[in-house]
Amino acid sequence: MTALRAIRGMNDILPPDAGWWREIESRITRVLANYGYQEIRLPIVESTQVFSRSIGDTTDIVQKEMYTFTDRNGDSLTLRPEGTASCVRAVLENGLLQTPQRLFYMGPMFRHERPQKGRYRQFHQVGVEAFGMDGPDIDAEMILMTSQLWKALGLNQLRLEINTLGTPAVRAQYRDRLVEYFSDHLDQLDPDSLSRLTRNPMRILDSKNPALKALITNAPRLVDSLDDESTAHFLSVRAVLDAAQISYRVNPHLVRGLDYYSKTVFEWITDELGAQGTVCAGGRYDGLVEQMGGRPTPAVGFAMGIERLIELIPGRPEVRTDADLYVIGATVSEKPTALAAAETLRTAYPDLRTLCHCGAEGLKSQMKRADRSGALVAIIIGADEYAAGEVTLKPLRGQGEQCRVTREKMASALGPLVERTQEISPLTGVLAQSIRSIPGGN
Ligand code: ATP
Ligand code: MG
Repeated sequence: MTALRAIRGMNDILPPDAGWWREIESRITRVLANYGYQEIRLPIVESTQVFSRSIGDTTDIVQKEMYTFTDRNGDSLTLRPEGTASCVRAVLENGLLQTPQRLFYMGPMFRHERPQKGRYRQFHQVGVEAFGMDGPDIDAEMILMTSQLWKALGLNQLRLEINTLGTPAVRAQYRDRLVEYFSDHLDQLDPDSLSRLTRNPMRILDSKNPALKALITNAPRLVDSLDDESTAHFLSVRAVLDAAQISYRVNPHLVRGLDYYSKTVFEWITDELGAQGTVCAGGRYDGLVEQMGGRPTPAVGFAMGIERLIELIPGRPEVRTDADLYVIGATVSEKPTALAAAETLRTAYPDLRTLCHCGAEGLKSQMKRADRSGALVAIIIGADEYAAGEVTLKPLRGQGEQCRVTREKMASALGPLVERTQEISPLTGVLAQSIRSIPGGN
């Protein structure tokens, strides 16, 4: 029988990485909550129309990247390729737009792309959307918040690029000028750009083909024909960034792939991930809510790819540890006491991982496992200890002294031992943090 395998581009996240993911997600959530954003949980599958009506028929996503299928009722469904459309669908359906909303979500997205480093078919995004605010202040605050996110994640290699796309009317005129320009240079366009020329000419500016670089640099720029309102909006966003000393580059060719953006767009980019360098991307999309059947409602948002972020974040756990405390009953007779002792320890130290050895191995091989588990301390109950109502505490890392204490004193005696060992042991930030919160520890 052939072995079963995961779908190409859809990855398992194994321990200890999954624990690291959880830590990263919780740091992100903390920053978003700090700015008053609330979580919204959305379905992974939606009617295909949710995406085709919003993202735009001419985009790569709708044209060739969606996982679309017909379900048993004959309805066309799609695994969500992004979250904004679902989020707009949900706030409209549930009548949440009476007041301004600051929302975020996180979870898997699906796109049928060619898998490579930083580009997968199932990947994860954190998405943030703010509805009902039309001023430049919310755009700017959102960018400041992303900057705080990088601090919380220990990232300092990201650079910010911003641009404005103007109003839909300005964009329509600009589009015509672009078509005219590129049509004069048809011989220089690659097949991808040729097909974009009729479908979505602004996307040619997004091309990553180095052969097109000069042609794109010399293309007409939208900034040169911008309307007054968009110019003022953009200047106000920039004024906030300047006041907060956030450095950025205005990139007149930053257009974003999706059709629904207007005014502010921004991307955070790194040079460390090759062509997959965009870690976070967003902007204003004032027309989308109306386009999806709601009343005109201004909106701004961004999404960031967790896989690309994780790749960049320092401090990923290198030492694999399965447990902090390892409880051993020497033989089957001490097993019930060992299990009971483990329960006591879990209650006393809810943030530590207490593993009680399960299985029939002898004391020696249990000790080997305890050591390999990476635990800080082994709690051993042999025949002697059992008879005396005591346990042996044996530090496995560092220089703490082995000792015997009564079962009643076990939890409190462990406190300083765990703490002392932790200072010299190569532990992950995650574990160090949970130890800091142990009762009596500091
Ligand atoms: P790209 O230009 O890299 O294809 P995009 O414009 O399609 O990106 P968005 O739709 O704006 O990306 O999604 C926001 C973020 O989600 C991206 O900046 C990236 O970090 C992440 N992302 C998008 N597609 C993928 C993918 N296939 N695999 C991993 N991360 C992705
Ligand atoms: Mg893409």
